[in-house]
Amino acid sequence: MRIDIITVLPEIFTGALDQSIMKRAQQKGLAEIHLHQLRDYSTMRHRQVDDYAFGGGAGMVLQIEPIWNVIEKLKSERNYDDIIYMSPDGELLNQQIANNLSLKENIVLLCGHYKGVDERVREHLITREISIGNYVLSGGELAAAVVSDAVIRLLPGVLSDETSALSDSFQDNLIAPPVYSRPNDFKGMKVPEILLSGHEKNINEWRFNQSLERTKVRRPELLLPHSPTNNPDSL
Ligand code: SAH
Repeated sequence: MRIDIITVLPEIFTGALDQSIMKRAQQKGLAEIHLHQLRDYSTMRHRQVDDYAFGGGAGMVLQIEPIWNVIEKLKSERNYDDIIYMSPDGELLNQQIANNLSLKENIVLLCGHYKGVDERVREHLITREISIGNYVLSGGELAAAVVSDAVIRLLPGVLSDETSALSDSFQDNLIAPPVYSRPNDFKGMKVPEILLSGHEKNINEWRFNQSLERTKVRRPELLLPHSPTNNPDSL
């Protein structure tokens, strides 16, 4: 899978996506992340990419021209399944959307800044808009890093234990059960006996019940037939 990220702050990604699982995915050739500095596509003096909003008001707006230039260039090189604008008012990211994106071959993530992007970008260039939550970040970079991480770890071969993504929270609309590691008794704080029993069937049953209980308490909406992550229409 190839992810092209358009940003005025490419430096943000080097830390976030160059470590651990993300690093390994790229080294194994399972994921490619290409960063594009939007300023390289400016035709203005000082590589300017933003300007005042028509009609007045505080805050600068990312202009359409450099965004158009970079997206047209990318589209002339390959086909994209989706050109995604990171936006606080987009579809709320969930595991279902991450699963869906992990099946794509090429996607673009456009990071806004300041007041956002000229609306004509959203109307004419963007095929999808994704939000990572109902709060406002100062730029789309952290959101794009979140989407990239959530998607790349789902690609076959990225996680060393291939089944481990499947047992994560949300994959089956359940929260993951609690996990423990050695020592089994730490200053009197003990690991549940059953996990030490070696009875796989009982352990699986215990884990399932824990998942169900946790989901009821923490995310009851996941158990509803039309929960956001349960809804096939969100695919
Ligand atoms: N004025 C806009 C917010 C702009 S924030 C509004 O009120 O909707 C600047 C940029 O940060 C946005 O263009 C977007 O790319 C990114 N951003 C902010 N919050 C985000 C979120 N919750 N999810 C995804 N991207 C976000």
